[in-house]
Amino acid sequence: MFGPPGSGKGTYASRLSAELSIPHISTGDLVRDEIKNLTEMGKRINDYSARGLLVPDDLICQVLQKRITQPDCASGFILDGFPRTIAQAQELAKISGTDLVINLDVPDTVIIERLASRLTCRSCGAIYNKRFLKPRIEGVCDRCEGQLYQREDDRPDVIEQRLHVYRKETQPLIEYYHAKNKVRNVSNKEAGVPPEKIVKEIIKIIQTPTI
Ligand code: AMP
Repeated sequence: MFGPPGSGKGTYASRLSAELSIPHISTGDLVRDEIKNLTEMGKRINDYSARGLLVPDDLICQVLQKRITQPDCASGFILDGFPRTIAQAQELAKISGTDLVINLDVPDTVIIERLASRLTCRSCGAIYNKRFLKPRIEGVCDRCEGQLYQREDDRPDVIEQRLHVYRKETQPLIEYYHAKNKVRNVSNKEAGVPPEKIVKEIIKIIQTPTI
C-alpha cells in the first residue's frame, strides 16, 4: 500500500488483510512496538520517528526482515509504509517479490483533515477518526478494547514534516514501480468516504488479471 501519511494505507490494509487472509505489516506499527517495548532497536529509532523523519534504511530493513521471515508470511503479506526509499525497495527485492503497488492518490487537504482527527489504538494499532470513523465507544478500540490516543507525530508541525519527507524520499518510488508495471492508482478525493468502498475497489484491482 503506497501513499502519503493519512492516505488510508493502514485502514485499508487491515481490512484487506481480513478479506485475503494474509498479514498486514505496518512498519510504522513495528517501529512503535520497538519504541514502546524499550528494545535496543527502539532506543535507536525513537528520535527519528518522533520528529517525523525516516528511520535509516539499514535499521528499518532489519525490522522488516525480522517480521516477514515469520511463518505466517509464507503465503504473502500486505506491506503498509514500506518501502519508503529506493534503497529499501532494492533491499525488499532481494528478499521478496512484489505483486502490486496500490497507490492511494489523496489531496493534501484531505490528509491534514484526517490526520488531525485520527485516533490509534495503543494495543493493536487499529485506526479510527474522531469525525469520519468513530469507535463504538468513545476512546475505546472496537477490536480489542484498548485505549485510543492521538499519535505524537500526528501533530500539525510533524504532519508537515512527514508530508515533506514523503514527497522528497518516497514519491520517486512510484516511478521505480511504474517502470516495472506494478502500480495501480486508487483515487480518494474526500475525507469521509467509507473504507469499505475503497477496499472493494482495491480487491477488484487485485482480481483483475495483469496482461
Ligand atoms: P507510519 O505509521 O507509517 O506513518 O510510520 C511512523 C514512523 O515510523 C515514520 O514517520 C518513520 O519515522 C518510521 N517508519 C515507518 N516505516 C518506515 C520506513 N519504511 N522507512 C523509514 N522509516 C519508517
